[in-house]
This record gives sequence, C-alpha cells and structure tokens, in this order.
Amino acid sequence: HAKDSGCNTYRFYTDKMNIDAMERLRMRNSLTVALREQEFELFYQPQFDLISSQLTGLEALIRWNHPENGLMQPSKFIPIAEQTGQIVQIGEWVIHEACRQAKAWQQQGFQPVRIAVNLSCMQFRRGDILKMVTDLTDEHELDPKYIELELTETILLQDVEHILEVVEKFKNLRFTLSIDDFGTGYSSLAYLKRFQVDKLKIDQSFIRNLEVDRHDLAIVRSIIQLASGFEMKTIAEGIETQGQLDLLRKEGCHEGQGYFYSHPLPADQIVQYLPASA
Ligand code: C2E
Ligand code: MG
Ligand code: MG
Ligand code: MG
Repeated sequence: HAKDSGCNTYRFYTDKMNIDAMERLRMRNSLTVALREQEFELFYQPQFDLISSQLTGLEALIRWNHPENGLMQPSKFIPIAEQTGQIVQIGEWVIHEACRQAKAWQQQGFQPVRIAVNLSCMQFRRGDILKMVTDLTDEHELDPKYIELELTETILLQDVEHILEVVEKFKNLRFTLSIDDFGTGYSSLAYLKRFQVDKLKIDQSFIRNLEVDRHDLAIVRSIIQLASGFEMKTIAEGIETQGQLDLLRKEGCHEGQGYFYSHPLPADQIVQYLPASA
C-alpha cells in the first residue's frame, strides 16, 4: 500500500478513486498481463522555447492500450500501480522505451532530442533507481543528457538524505532534472535550496486562468523569479491559448508545452516536430 510505503499519492486520491480490494486485485492482474503483453505505449508531448518556438524536448506520457477498455489514461492506472508496487516495473519499461525511441530517432537521422520521463516516489523507495536508469542508458548507448527525470515533491520529501545523494549522482552523470507540478506541494521553497535541479515545471493549475486571475499571475511571476535566482529554467505546463503564451513570454518563462502547441502524440506522429540532423 502507498500508505505503508510513505509515498503520498494524494494528487490522485483527489480524483475520487475509491477502489475496493477486489477491484485492486483485478487491476493488479491486468497490469501484470499488460507488462507481459506489451500493452503500454508512450505518447510524447513536444516542448518549445517560448521565444524561438524551437523544439526543446519531449515529455513521455504513458498510455495503456487495454484490450477491452481501449486507450487508458495514466490517472486510471498509475495510482493503482503505485499502490501495488508495479510502478517499479512499469517505470523501468517507460525508461527503457524512452531510451530505445530516442536512440531510434537518432539513428533515423533526426537531431538528438531530450525525452523527459515521470518518476514515482515508489521507484526511489524500492529498488536501485540509479542503477536501473544508468543500466538502461548504457544498454542503449544513449548520452544521459538526452534523458530528463521529472521529480515530484512527494519524491523530494522522502528520506531527504538518500534522495539528495541519488539526485547528486544523476546530476554528475549529466542527466537533466526537473521538478514537476511545481507550486502545488507543501514546501516548494525550502527544498529548492537543497535540490539544485535544472528546471521547474510550473503546474498547469496556475496557467489555466492566467489571463483572468491576477493571483495566478502573481504565483507564476514568483516562480519565474525564484527559478532565475537559482539559475534554473522554467517550463509552463498546459498552455492552451495564445493569450497564456503571450503572458508567459512577457513574464520571461523559458519554455512551454500544452494543447496550444500539441497534444501528446504517438511516436510516429512526433517525427513532424523533429529537425533533421545536419
Ligand atoms: P504530468 O506529468 O503533470 O503531465 C501533464 C499532463 O497534462 C498530461 O496528462 C498531459 O496530457 C496533460 N496536458 C498536456 N497539455 C495540456 C493542456 O494544454 N491542457 C490540459 N488540460 N492538460 C494538458 P496525462 O498524460 O493524462 O498524465 C497525467 C499524469 O500521469 C502526469 O502528469 C504524470 O503525473 C502521470 N504520468 C504519466 N505518465 C507517467 C509515467 O510514465 N510514469 C509515472 N510515474 N507517471 C506518469
Ligand atoms: Mg510530468
Ligand atoms: Mg505536471
Ligand atoms: Mg499535472
């Protein structure tokens, strides 16, 4: 159970996911089958420099091609995988697949692109995440700078000394590190001093009403200023309108992703965004 692990999955509980023991058991079994039968797929959402509009990276977002339910979104199964511990194996598959795809695109003659993957708290609690990730980049002969690791506050608040050590090692190996959903947690400011990551991802809840809510604007402005003081980059999530984009540009946000640019897409539809190698 997530409770026992100390990994707080509160974000998803607010989605009113009340599942009983039977349902969880069913899901656990289907997830095992899904791993074995390769029913998971990564979609990719392009990220852009807000000024030059050049592609800066892709975020890998997992989908489940469920034999009966069709394409399932992560909010429908990641919380359960976190509770059952299967997120460790699923997360390993995600990084394997991201490495494989990044390398494949390079070999097809596209400029190298960085892929961001989402990490769950449980992956830091069970198993050796450092070894798992580095084994996979080694296996695919992929330069770690093409993998970005998205951390959440839930991760950063666990066993701080241990996480700090792991994060430092990832940094020394030149992985890119970012903090996802920044601003939604409890102590966003205090931990920044200890975790000097490369990038803050401004949560989409602050972007949604940016054009009409001056409090959201104040929050976004503060995050950008804070990041600049720490020499970190900022990326806004969930940009849906030209107005939001204009405001973010004006405020000095570096990068963005969202439906305004592109929905998350299957790999074969991503190539339209990938520049060819020189
Ligand atoms: P996230 O990492 O914060 O990802 C951003 C979510 O916002 C994605 O939802 C994306 O599809 C959605 N999004 C992107 N642009 C827009 C927009 O303009 N408007 C709106 N309303 N939404 C937008 P998605 O793909 O359903 O993923 C939900 C969450 O599931 C992710 O949030 C992440 O926390 C988790 N997740 C996804 N893939 C993985 C994975 O491979 N491993 C783990 N551990 N978690 C994952
Ligand atoms: Mg993310
Ligand atoms: Mg996010
Ligand atoms: Mg989010």
